[in-house]
Amino acid sequence: MVIADQIALTAPHSPLSTSIKSNLYQKVCRKKWRSDLVIFVPILLIVTMVSSLFNTIQSVTISALERLSIKSGRRPWLIFVAAISAAVVWSAIAIPAQAYQFQILPSSPVRGDTLSVVIRTETAGEAPTVTVGGETYPSFLLSGNRYRAFIPTSPNTKAGKLTLQINGSEGNENVAVNIGARNFPTQYITLSGASADLEGTDYEFDRLDELRALRTPERYWNGPMGRPSTGYISSTYGLQRYYNGVFAEDYYHRGVDYAAGNGSPIYAPAAGKIIVVGRVEDGFELNGNTIGIDHGQGVTSVMIHLSGFAVKEGDQVEKGQLIGYMGSTGFASGPNLHWGLFVNGVAVDPVPWRYDGIE
Ligand SMILES: [Zn+2]
Repeated sequence: MVIADQIALTAPHSPLSTSIKSNLYQKVCRKKWRSDLVIFVPILLIVTMVSSLFNTIQSVTISALERLSIKSGRRPWLIFVAAISAAVVWSAIAIPAQAYQFQILPSSPVRGDTLSVVIRTETAGEAPTVTVGGETYPSFLLSGNRYRAFIPTSPNTKAGKLTLQINGSEGNENVAVNIGARNFPTQYITLSGASADLEGTDYEFDRLDELRALRTPERYWNGPMGRPSTGYISSTYGLQRYYNGVFAEDYYHRGVDYAAGNGSPIYAPAAGKIIVVGRVEDGFELNGNTIGIDHGQGVTSVMIHLSGFAVKEGDQVEKGQLIGYMGSTGFASGPNLHWGLFVNGVAVDPVPWRYDGIE
């Protein structure tokens, strides 16, 4: 016991070492007990608060108490007990030290929202990751020692508590976020003829999976996203569907549909790089003519059912740039643009990206 030894060495002539047989001394002791309590209870509280505030534990406060013990001539063992009690109380009530500072937006998210998690680490270094429900999402440097990760939610995300685990060189830390309830309407779709039998090809699925798997460190988008078509919105994000009377399990409408005339212009909703120009004749059977855009940092767009293209793969495009033309190719009942916005592979509601913008 280093502490006890120190006390024994530094306070050898305390009242404890004198005779305790004297009645007078015992009376004095009882009085002293009360005055000791009056002194040491506030000390215990102060030490507790000071310790939790400055996160410096016993050594400093105990040596201060030792000096106090010598000066005041009070019992060192009582001081020792007070110090230990303070340490116990401190460890019980102190908020665990946080390795990371973080901010999560929006403050009241609902299903379909994109969570923006800004993490500040103690020192600049490796970018932390965020794990949610077994999926691990990367973060990207914002500035200095600030990183940002996007956590997608969708109609498949349950309302209620969502636990985010921040992992990095400064340890792991859990933070709970409440996902608010949000209901999505149900749609009844009747399909007939050849389009109902379309199953899609591995080629189109693989190409789009590769696009959605991109976690490009560069960030191309800037500010709120733009409207990709001047047509009216014919289907909103997140709708549940019945096809020919059969409920589509785990299905939700993974985008927003715009309806306008065949051949009407389609614009890039945000800046990015054209990764996919997929043609019906090359195997884009279900999606029809398709454009895939990488906006960077895990954010991608898929535009399907096009009648034609105004870009080629590898092109860098700006927000609002003409990229193609509306059509009804693939699994479509009429001319429309389906715009799917993906965050780390999950189709999220584009509306917050369109109106509020996510920086
Ligand atoms: Zn659609």
